[in-house]
Amino acid sequence: MAWYSKQKKVPQTAATPAAPPAEPTKKGEGLWNKCDGCGEVVYRADLEANWNVCPRCGHHEMMPVRRRFEMLFDPGSFQELDVELTPQDPLGFVDAKKYKDRLKSTFKATGLRDAFISGLCTIGGREVSVGSFAFEFMGGSMGSVVGEKVARVIDRAYERKIPCIVFSSTGGARMQEGIYSLMQMAKTSAALNRFRKVRKPYISVMLHPTTGGVAASFAWLGDVVIAEPKALIGFAGPRVIEQTIREKLPPGFQRSEFLLEHGMIDAIVPRLELKDRLAQLLGLLG
Ligand SMILES: [Zn+2]
Repeated sequence: MAWYSKQKKVPQTAATPAAPPAEPTKKGEGLWNKCDGCGEVVYRADLEANWNVCPRCGHHEMMPVRRRFEMLFDPGSFQELDVELTPQDPLGFVDAKKYKDRLKSTFKATGLRDAFISGLCTIGGREVSVGSFAFEFMGGSMGSVVGEKVARVIDRAYERKIPCIVFSSTGGARMQEGIYSLMQMAKTSAALNRFRKVRKPYISVMLHPTTGGVAASFAWLGDVVIAEPKALIGFAGPRVIEQTIREKLPPGFQRSEFLLEHGMIDAIVPRLELKDRLAQLLGLLG
């Protein structure tokens, strides 16, 4: 006997209308939000007023890049630069759809040209060269444009002799740009090496998640490396590591708390305290 048998289709008539397809509820939409930390349902306006930190349990939801700037920089001080950089398709890459089409549709959905925004701002009155990943753009993946923008953030800090801060939230290199993506690791690391000469701080802030080629290059090369609570940070994913070393990984592996305990990062700073902490660090080191 067969394991599966074909079910007979019930013909639809006017008397038995088909049930409406369940509306897919996207995260980040609707009036209410179910917290991934405590499972409580929170009014979205309350969550957003609290910078996407759950008012019940303190769980950090992801936050769009522009909101982060609004939260951390002195009001009106951010000047966006490098806006002319737009991604190309050097390999003519096609997966489920053409890379070119994917770029177009992501631009339409997010209003962003690529997964990184860079510029100058002040924090606590001090000028800083800054840049941040936008996870909402193709999972914050790093292609040629992102790498170039990161390098420019660092180079501007070098030229002006000011501190620089990069906020990372990324899945790693952008596979659609192949080797061009991987080359960004060397390019940004080389820019940081030059920046060392001006003896100003480079603060790397790792948000959830920071993985792959970004974690393996400039994100972990900060003079000070800060992470948000419970952020996933690492190079390869836990499944790949387990299969490679054939050992069970300890609980909490690759989370901020585990990494702090093992000396891989310098501090865990809750989002609501980040602006003060950055201003303090800039005051001490800048
Ligand atoms: Zn919660």
